[in-house]
Amino acid sequence: MSAPNKSYDPVEVEALKPEEIDGARDAALAAFEAAADLEALREAKIAHTGDRSPLALANREIGALPPQAKAAAGKRVGQARGAVNKALAARQAVLEAERDERVLVEEAVDVTLPYDRAPVGARHPLTTLSERIEDIFVAMGYEVAEGPEVETEWFNFDALNLDPDHPARSTHDTFFVADERGGPDSGLVLRTHTSPVQIRSLLDREPPVYVICPGRTYRSDELDATHTPVFGQVELLAVDEGLTMADLKGTLDHMVQSLFGPEMRTRLRPNYFPFTEPSAEMDMVCFRCHGESVGDPDRPCRTCASEGWIELGGCGVVNPRVLVACGIDPERYSGFAFGFGIERMLMFRHGVADMRDIIEGDVRFTRPFGSEI
Ligand SMILES: [Zn+2]
Repeated sequence: MSAPNKSYDPVEVEALKPEEIDGARDAALAAFEAAADLEALREAKIAHTGDRSPLALANREIGALPPQAKAAAGKRVGQARGAVNKALAARQAVLEAERDERVLVEEAVDVTLPYDRAPVGARHPLTTLSERIEDIFVAMGYEVAEGPEVETEWFNFDALNLDPDHPARSTHDTFFVADERGGPDSGLVLRTHTSPVQIRSLLDREPPVYVICPGRTYRSDELDATHTPVFGQVELLAVDEGLTMADLKGTLDHMVQSLFGPEMRTRLRPNYFPFTEPSAEMDMVCFRCHGESVGDPDRPCRTCASEGWIELGGCGVVNPRVLVACGIDPERYSGFAFGFGIERMLMFRHGVADMRDIIEGDVRFTRPFGSEI
């Protein structure tokens, strides 16, 4: 190891000469000033402050100086590097501000411009609700059956035990379809329920038959908040050996529990329909108040009018006369059927107050239901 060179002259170290250091500093300042953008500044920064820059190399030389020369050289290099870093930071700030301003201008969005993207719609809630109900029954082994909306009177009425002079026939407010001469005797109607699809299903298939029949139906009602001349029905029909009212009740319980929650219950009230015997009106317990609003004026329930139950639809054991009309032996087979209006279910399920909102096709109504698949 050699002794420190006492006669070492710092002036002789080329990189530490004051004019070299001043020159390196001035070159750095000029390069920063000349950098037109952040990329150019980044390159100038590497050249003038990086490990291989003149000032970094000069700094490295200080360590080799004799002690008495170190302070002056260190101060000179330190001041130069300080000036360079300060100039770099200042230029960096200026260029970043310029860039931000440019980005704001370039990427500004004129919200008043018309846009060309088509608004995303949503499937109609009647469709998604109907499909959800179909899924429940398909999972139980039912088949989805469809039929024509212009139907013969035989399928719409006669086969369902509604003879021409049956009083219930006149309550259906039927649209009759004119024949080609414009007369009223075409024998065709717009179907008043989806029950004719049940008849077609029984004629097309050998028992056991398990079908769900969703579809559009027509009655000559005026359009108002609670009526529409065109409405959707879902009916189901099961014909098999040994089916009873208990199978119907279990099936209905499963349906409302799948749609409204596992705590749901149903009840049957006696009623009359020509195509079922016995017949019943089916109610489900109110899914909002669970019956707790009954007799409690402090907690009124709008969904069930504080009655605790919601009427859902009609049902019953298939009338043997209907089976006979379809060529099925009523001694061997029995069945049950159930039907309800889908608009009504949508109204109380989602708190829709006006039937017209459902059918007018305004996207502001359908969009909040989202795109359920
Ligand atoms: Zn209620």
